[in-house]
Amino acid sequence: MTLQEKDSQYLWHPYTQHKTSQTPIAISRGEGALLWDENNKEYIDAIASWWVNPFGHSNKFIADAIYKQLTTLEHVLFGGFTHEPAIKVAEKLMGILPKNQQKIFFSDNGSTAVEVAIKVALQYFYNKGEKRTTIIAFENAFHGDTFAAMAASGISFYTQAFQGMFIDVVRIPVPIKGQEKISFDALKEVIQNHDCAGFIFEPLVQGAAGMVMYEPESLAKLIAICKENKILTIADEVMTGFGKTGKTFAMDYVDEDPDMICLSKALTGGTIPMAITTFTQNVFDAFYDDDINKALFHGHTFTANPTGCAAALASIDLLQTDEIQANIKRINKNHLNFQRKIENHPKVITARTLGVIFAVEIKSDTEESYYGSMRTKLYNFFIDKGVILRPVGNIVYILPPYIMTNEQLQKVYTTIEEAIEMV
Ligand SMILES: *Cc1c(COP(=O)(O)O)cnc(C)c1O
Repeated sequence: MTLQEKDSQYLWHPYTQHKTSQTPIAISRGEGALLWDENNKEYIDAIASWWVNPFGHSNKFIADAIYKQLTTLEHVLFGGFTHEPAIKVAEKLMGILPKNQQKIFFSDNGSTAVEVAIKVALQYFYNKGEKRTTIIAFENAFHGDTFAAMAASGISFYTQAFQGMFIDVVRIPVPIKGQEKISFDALKEVIQNHDCAGFIFEPLVQGAAGMVMYEPESLAKLIAICKENKILTIADEVMTGFGKTGKTFAMDYVDEDPDMICLSKALTGGTIPMAITTFTQNVFDAFYDDDINKALFHGHTFTANPTGCAAALASIDLLQTDEIQANIKRINKNHLNFQRKIENHPKVITARTLGVIFAVEIKSDTEESYYGSMRTKLYNFFIDKGVILRPVGNIVYILPPYIMTNEQLQKVYTTIEEAIEMV
C-alpha cells in the first residue's frame, strides 16, 4: 500500500470533507522552502506550511537546539516547577514585545493562546466583582477552533454547527480603508449597549479572511476607545507575529499597546507546537490575591515544554540575525514589484502587501465562497505546478518562509499570473 492508501484507511484531516476532497499528498522530506512528496515531486511551500515556518524546513540551527534540550531536560511539569528555557524565553520576549507586557503564560497552540486570553478577560472582571461578560470581535475574524476562540471567530462555516452554544460575542466591522468611521461608531454603540470585558482582534491583517488589511491608526483609535471604557484589548498575533508584517509584531506599527498578546505559529520556527499569551502587570494583579479562587485555573499538561522553549529561543535568535531581517525586506520589495505588475490586470480586483504577506483578489463571475469552485480550480492548478498555495475563495495569498530565494519567489509569481489567465 502507498502512504496515500494507508492514509485513507486511518486518518481524519483538518478542514477536510473526505468524501469530496482529493487524497492528501504524502510529503517525505523538506529543506529550505522546498518539500518533496513520496514520488519525489518537488513543491515550493509558498505559505510556510500554514504560516509557521519562517526559516525553512528541517532547519539545522533549530534542530540542534532541540536535540541539545531533549538530551538535557525534555520535559518537566510546570505546576510547582520551573526551568531555564522558560525563563530565557520570557526574558527574550520582554526585550522585543511592547514594553507594557510583563507576564507570560504558556500553552500549546494558537487557539489555546486565545482561549487563555478570553478567559483572563472574563475572569479579570469577575475577580473585581464587576459584571462584564461580552467580548467584542471583528467580522470575519479567525481566532482558532476551541470554543471561546470559535465564539470570537466570525467566518461562519467554521462555526455554524455550534451557533447558540457560545459565550457572548458582538461583532464590529473591520476599519478597512474608507470604512473607518463605521467601525469606530459600531464599537461605541456596542460599548453603550453591552457589558464589554474585552476586544480581540488580528492586528493589521486578518489572515484566514484572506489577508484583509487595515491601517495602524485605525486600530490605535479602536484600542483608545476601549481604554477609555476600561475594556481589555487582546492582540491575536498568532499569524502576524515574528516578522510577517515587516516588524517583529504587527503591534509595533500601532501607537496604542494592548493588554494581552497571543503568540504561536512561527514562535518555534514551525518545529514544536507551542503558544504564549502575554499580559500587563495590571491584568496579572487582578488574579494576585490571598483568595485561591482568584487564581487562573487554567493549564495544559505540556505547559512551557522545555524542548518547545529551546526551539523558540533558537527561532527568535534567527529572526534577529541581519541575514533574516535583510530577507524580510527583500521579499517585501519583490512583493511590491509584483503587486505593481499585476494590480492593473483586467482580471485583478485588488492586490496588497504588508511585510512578507501578499494577496491578490481575482475577478469572478459568481459569488465566491471560501471553498468554492474557483478556489478548487486554483488550488489544483498550483499543486499541479508544484507550488503550495491555499486560496481563500477568489483570494490568492503568499506568505513565504523568509529564506525563499528570488528564483523560487519568481516561480510563485509566474504561477499566479498563469492561474489568473487560466480562471
Ligand atoms: C491560526 C490562528 C489561530 C489558531 O491557531 P491554532 O494553532 O491553529 O490553534 C488563532 N488566531 C490566528 C490569528 C490564527 O491565524
